[in-house]
Amino acid sequence: MTDYITLLKNNDLKATIQRTSILKSIDQAGHINIDEIYEDVREQHPTLSLATIYKNIILMQQNNIIIEVPMNGEKSKYELKKDDHIHLICQNCGKIQDAQLSPRTQETLIIENFTLRNAQINLYGYCQVCHTN
Ligand SMILES: [Zn+2]
Ligand SMILES: [Zn+2]
Repeated sequence: MTDYITLLKNNDLKATIQRTSILKSIDQAGHINIDEIYEDVREQHPTLSLATIYKNIILMQQNNIIIEVPMNGEKSKYELKKDDHIHLICQNCGKIQDAQLSPRTQETLIIENFTLRNAQINLYGYCQVCHTN
């Protein structure tokens, strides 16, 4: 299990119970939207409001602990920050698969007059289950 307290402290945030529960929920799901986080966290902390969760998500995003994955018209999903990778996003069921960004992909990106700090590539289509149905 990831040490959420250290993760928060290393990124200049106080380790509150709200934040560690949100991180745990995201970590267990892989990729998860705010409503799902809310349902998850509320089981143990019934008094926590959606607004508080949202505020903490924004803060942890700003401090590079979690990443927002845009979902094309649906609510964004969140994941713990990992190495740069590609997302294969199913437009039917919303499932997200992680794929590695190969060194070849990085070489084919020709970027001038721009300093790249991190990359997120999202590819939208249909997963195997939705494709065959
Ligand atoms: Zn699907
Ligand atoms: Zn991912």
